[in-house]
Amino acid sequence: MEETIPLNLKEKGKNGITIEILEDFCKGCTICVDVCPEDSLEMVPIGSRWQGNIAVIKDIETCVACMLCELQCPDFAILIDKPPKKVTKKKKTAA
Ligand code: SF4
Ligand code: SF4
Repeated sequence: MEETIPLNLKEKGKNGITIEILEDFCKGCTICVDVCPEDSLEMVPIGSRWQGNIAVIKDIETCVACMLCELQCPDFAILIDKPPKKVTKKKKTAA
């Protein structure tokens, strides 16, 4: 009997960054894995896909939210969510 391995398609890291891969949209082209500078993603075989593989999260903690994968994915199948930057007001200095 074939073993079913759960796919790591959505995860939030300690730094607040979330990666989500939309299983139904990913065609397994490997572009996101190739462009990721941090090796945060990987391809895994999945027989039901037309290319026979799918992108999954390899290590969420290495993701720096550079957005390259989301921008390069031809099928809008990967989403990066990063926490908003904290805006600190500059104190006015007395004239
Ligand atoms: S670039 Fe998009 S379609 Fe291609 S493997 Fe990555 S998530 Fe899937
Ligand atoms: S946002 Fe950048 S670092 Fe994070 S998975 Fe995508 S390409 Fe890699």
